Amino acid sequence: MFHMEKWFPADSMTIMIVDDTKENINVLRKTLTLVGAKISVALNGKMALDLIPKLKPDLILLDVMMPEMDGYEVCKRLKEDEESKNIPVIFITAKGDIEDVVKGFEAGAVDFIMKPFRQEEVLARVRTHLTLSAALKKLIQDSETDPLTGLFNRRTFLKRIDNEAARFKRSQKPFSILFGDIDFFKKINDTFGHAAGDAVLVSISKLLDTEKREIDQISRWGGEEFLILLPETDIKGAVQLGNKIREKISAQSIMHEGKEIHVTMSFGVSKYNGEAPIDKTIDLADKRLYLAKESGRNKVVAEDA
Ligand code: GH3
Ligand code: MG
Ligand code: MG
Repeated sequence: MFHMEKWFPADSMTIMIVDDTKENINVLRKTLTLVGAKISVALNGKMALDLIPKLKPDLILLDVMMPEMDGYEVCKRLKEDEESKNIPVIFITAKGDIEDVVKGFEAGAVDFIMKPFRQEEVLARVRTHLTLSAALKKLIQDSETDPLTGLFNRRTFLKRIDNEAARFKRSQKPFSILFGDIDFFKKINDTFGHAAGDAVLVSISKLLDTEKREIDQISRWGGEEFLILLPETDIKGAVQLGNKIREKISAQSIMHEGKEIHVTMSFGVSKYNGEAPIDKTIDLADKRLYLAKESGRNKVVAEDA
């Protein structure tokens, strides 16, 4: 017998069983309970597609033969969706024909389990794919974020901004950019040390993250530079948010090893008009940020001089 609990923290994992036969569900549920994972069940393809975005399972065991929508179709749809495409899908099938196996892999499955199941085989395959996908998730997260602040890095932010520009084409909904840079940050490092500088960056990141709306996307663009993407927001809204953040930062003190550190931040604002290449919008916000610096710092600038 396998002792799953020794291999990964299974109790934090959710496995979804998609099958139209109660008996199969019961056998699988009993087996997977040994893993310690939470189990959720969908009785058909439609139910699975409804539940998966909500439950975000870590792995899906998918029956091939189901009425109305078969497993191949369910799998294809999951793989087309950005949110679900990385969830490993293992097909459960009685059909052992090589054509079926190939069709399943083409639909995006990672593995097959043939009926009738052997408990050890089910557990071993589930364990392998949970382990692989947890490693992949970590890898993706590490490649998308900045290790100090946990915010999106520049590369990820550029991808997001491209998506937003593509959305603009369809919906004509404008979006704005807020380009922030901490004032005289070099002096913080020089006065209090690099570790204090890092603590300030973490603290500012948290504040920016708290103040932005759920749909806004924030990134650490560079050293002490932050870019915030504000969907469906015009210049006026972006200036408002910029000023709110700016005032909060200048009113607070950041404590580091018993020392009170006070910083201010300057912002440049621009709006994407759908015409210029997207990097022009970033350049424009950067130019206005420079104007904010030139005209005294601790300012939000949304116009050219
Ligand atoms: P300004 O008001 O014009 O923006 O001046 P500034 O001093 O903030 O700007 P400058 O670009 O001259 O200096 C930025 C400093 O940020 C220099 C660099 O050493 C520091 N820095 C960049 N990344 C990090 C980091 O990850 N941690 C720390 N502690 N400092 C960093
Ligand atoms: Mg600076
Ligand atoms: Mg700078």
